[in-house]
Amino acid sequence: MSGAESLARAARRAQPAWAALPAARRKAVLRRFAAFVEREKDSLARTLTRDMGKPLSQSYNELNALPGRLGFFIDNFEAALRPHSVRDAGGTAEALTHEPLGVVANISAWNYPWFVGTNVFVPALLTGNAVLYKPSEHAQATGRAMARLLWRAGVPRSVFSPVFGAGRAGAALLESDIDAVFFTGSVATGKKVAEAAARRLIKVQLELGGKDPVYIAQDADPLKAAPAVADGAFYNAGQSCCAVERVYVHERIYERFLEAFLDAVRGFKVGDPMDRDTYLGPLARAEQVPFLESQVRDAVRKGARLLWGGRRLPRPGAFFAPTVLDRCTHEMALMREESFGPVIGLMKVRSDDEAVRLMNDTAYGLTAGVYSRSKARAQRILSQVDAGSAYWNCCDRVSPYLPWSGRKDSGLGLTLSTAGIACFLRPKAWHLRRP
Ligand code: NAD
Repeated sequence: MSGAESLARAARRAQPAWAALPAARRKAVLRRFAAFVEREKDSLARTLTRDMGKPLSQSYNELNALPGRLGFFIDNFEAALRPHSVRDAGGTAEALTHEPLGVVANISAWNYPWFVGTNVFVPALLTGNAVLYKPSEHAQATGRAMARLLWRAGVPRSVFSPVFGAGRAGAALLESDIDAVFFTGSVATGKKVAEAAARRLIKVQLELGGKDPVYIAQDADPLKAAPAVADGAFYNAGQSCCAVERVYVHERIYERFLEAFLDAVRGFKVGDPMDRDTYLGPLARAEQVPFLESQVRDAVRKGARLLWGGRRLPRPGAFFAPTVLDRCTHEMALMREESFGPVIGLMKVRSDDEAVRLMNDTAYGLTAGVYSRSKARAQRILSQVDAGSAYWNCCDRVSPYLPWSGRKDSGLGLTLSTAGIACFLRPKAWHLRRP
């Protein structure tokens, strides 16, 4: 029996008792977990930075945002569990109750391990599921800390079990006795996960990559938009699913935007991720460096102008210089395939319609943003873009109150919001005819 299989069997045995606890007990346990995370924030931030190279200040940002997210789930899950009567007519009452899915596998990415992990396992546990959590192989120490704090808070060990390892451990987990899989990661792996789930006919949710566009409309303030968009592109070294990956700028304001954008990028401090003032640290995976080099080479060969960076940095670790290219076209891989690194392509456009066409010219559909003084204009543009999240005068933003979902290659299903709690429950429909 594989390690995952024996953990799944133990989870199967333990889950009914966990689900049978009064909701208030599970709530108290997860509240304690949130308090432990807060108390250990300093060491957890360092662990996260050591795991995957995120600058320490950004590890703190992730942990500082956690109470808001956990609080949302803790405050809202009981409503999702409440039975309700739907109709009563002709001697028959119709009612709904909700039951947990059972044993949930959570296969996770490394880029925001606290966010993408807790988005799944916290609502899953609150609604009475057992969880087999596979942290990324690039965020294992963080995964170990999550398990330790959950257990200390009172989640039984068999109700939350970490599964360590890389792809093979994930594949073995998918063959174990699970009822659902919630995956965050790349499209290529997501497709394998979906195939394995299809063979088993189990529920699957996928949060995958993005090629998120931002459009700076003619009426936007280019000097205000530029630093915000640069941060959206380079935060966490561009290793965010919703990082800005391509920028379209109206020709009338192009030069002013470009100058301010380059000013912002030149100001980013690259360095040791453990230094408090570092903005850009190393990439989590060394193999991403030659991949980014090949995107830059391809773009330059096809006519792009390299304005800043464009190469690995001569220092230990997988450092890639913040890189800006313009005169880009959609013939270049840089404008259509996920970069997942500190590289951005800019393109001049003549109209809103051209921007809409280019924004949609990708296999992905996670987020899209428009900078404009006019809300109506931004809404008109964004309603034509096939993406799960739409940003007006902002970008690279996630809220627990709103569903997080990708379209096309960006995923299936959703997390966050009350819908992201309900997805860990199955409805039971009651047809109750009085004798
Ligand atoms: P990845 O696909 O390499 O790995 C994700 C997880 O899958 C890891 O835990 C890995 O060990 C596991 N895995 C690998 N092969 C497997 C297999 N055959 N079966 C089962 N599990 C397997 O992705 P990554 O490098 O960890 O993450 C980066 C990607 O994640 C980017 O594309 C990014 O855009 C995406 N992402 C999306 C979101 C979102 O919310 N949409 C959030 C974060 C990251």
